[in-house]
Amino acid sequence: MTTSAQLFEQACRHIPGGVNSPVRAFKGMNRPPVFMERALGACLFDVEGKRYVDYVGSWGPMITGHADPDVLGAVRERLDSGLSFGTPTAIETTMADLICEIIPSIEMVRMTSSGTEATMSAIRLARGVTGRDRIVKFEGNYHGHSDSLLVKAGSGALTHGEPSSPGVPASLAEQTITLPYNDIDAVEQCFEEIGSEVACIIVEPVAGNMNCIPPQPGFLEALRRVCNTHDSVLIFDEVMTGFRVALGGAQAHYGVKPDLTCLGKIVGGGMPVGAFGGSETIMSNISPLGPIYHAGTLSGNPLAMAAGVALLTKLRAPGFHNALAQRVDTLCHGLQERADAAGIDMITQRAGGMFGLFFTRQSRVDNFAQATACDDDAFRRFFTAMLDEGVYLAPSAFEAGFMSSAHTPEDIQLTLDGAEKAFASLSH
Ligand code: PLP
Repeated sequence: MTTSAQLFEQACRHIPGGVNSPVRAFKGMNRPPVFMERALGACLFDVEGKRYVDYVGSWGPMITGHADPDVLGAVRERLDSGLSFGTPTAIETTMADLICEIIPSIEMVRMTSSGTEATMSAIRLARGVTGRDRIVKFEGNYHGHSDSLLVKAGSGALTHGEPSSPGVPASLAEQTITLPYNDIDAVEQCFEEIGSEVACIIVEPVAGNMNCIPPQPGFLEALRRVCNTHDSVLIFDEVMTGFRVALGGAQAHYGVKPDLTCLGKIVGGGMPVGAFGGSETIMSNISPLGPIYHAGTLSGNPLAMAAGVALLTKLRAPGFHNALAQRVDTLCHGLQERADAAGIDMITQRAGGMFGLFFTRQSRVDNFAQATACDDDAFRRFFTAMLDEGVYLAPSAFEAGFMSSAHTPEDIQLTLDGAEKAFASLSH
């Protein structure tokens, strides 16, 4: 038995499923998870000392690589001043100024301790300012684990939502309408029928929680249009895409301006942080300025702010995001070439610093139904073979991959060499 397998057995005694977030459990991969000991640059090192080129990056935050010396240095510098004061600190203003400078649709911003809190609070704000209860989300988009957002599609645009998890009250799920991603007709039809009841649309502007699915041309623009027509709030959940798809997030990349933006992951540099923000008009409704409540004991924690500010500052270096996207292109082209050579049906999709691999004969994947129609057995076998080759991909066919600026040409070459063997093993 490997050390990881032993540790997993021990973990399962007092932690449900042995993990503190489900996808870490490798459920569906037919093997126990790998326990990591440390990380540096593009690499993870497991408890037995094996090195992996990592394309998970702690699910997104590690865009300049693990243990970035500038981020660690910023945290170290503040450490001896104390961990948390429960009072305002100047670095919270530095962070807010930085976010507003980088993302112009945000004039005011509130920090939270997770992406889940950011989306939950943005939804409350949208409901509060519109006086409406219903919200629209998209099938296969993930916005954290708050009740209103843990709802999957009913069949058809206007069916009542069904809870994705027992424990979500049906009365709340009913208020969440789930539509197919990239389906402008479904959005327009929904708003024609009940637009006056809809508080907001919340969307991942590039979907990264059903593998990597960019928006089709015109999709985000259509969301903007229907929200304008029906006085609903457009929320971009940029927890994953923020500072990754482009410095200013997907809204900068695609040129569509939301009313509210949710952030997480990169904004905390690897510490537990989220944020939500928008125009001064809408954000002025948040307590204590306005009646809509939002709070957090550790919101704006100074250590977390130090990590986030250090990371965001680095990302402003000219050319950072072009170079990141270039690395993603090199990786995806290399994988495609090797899959084609081995006769494996696989395609890649990407947006800036994120990418996805789909084992499918389709020429592109635009929504959840198409994503779930891909060959998960092929993915599982590829994932396992890559792990053996020292490449750590997300242990699920429904997660995007993340590139960092620490991935060297050698790391990418090692990945492609591993993939060549992995594809060959799949074609047997
Ligand atoms: N929104 C998106 C798009 C996410 O990808 C995630 C997490 O993966 C969340 C929200 C929730 O963030 P957190 O896990 O920090 O609560």
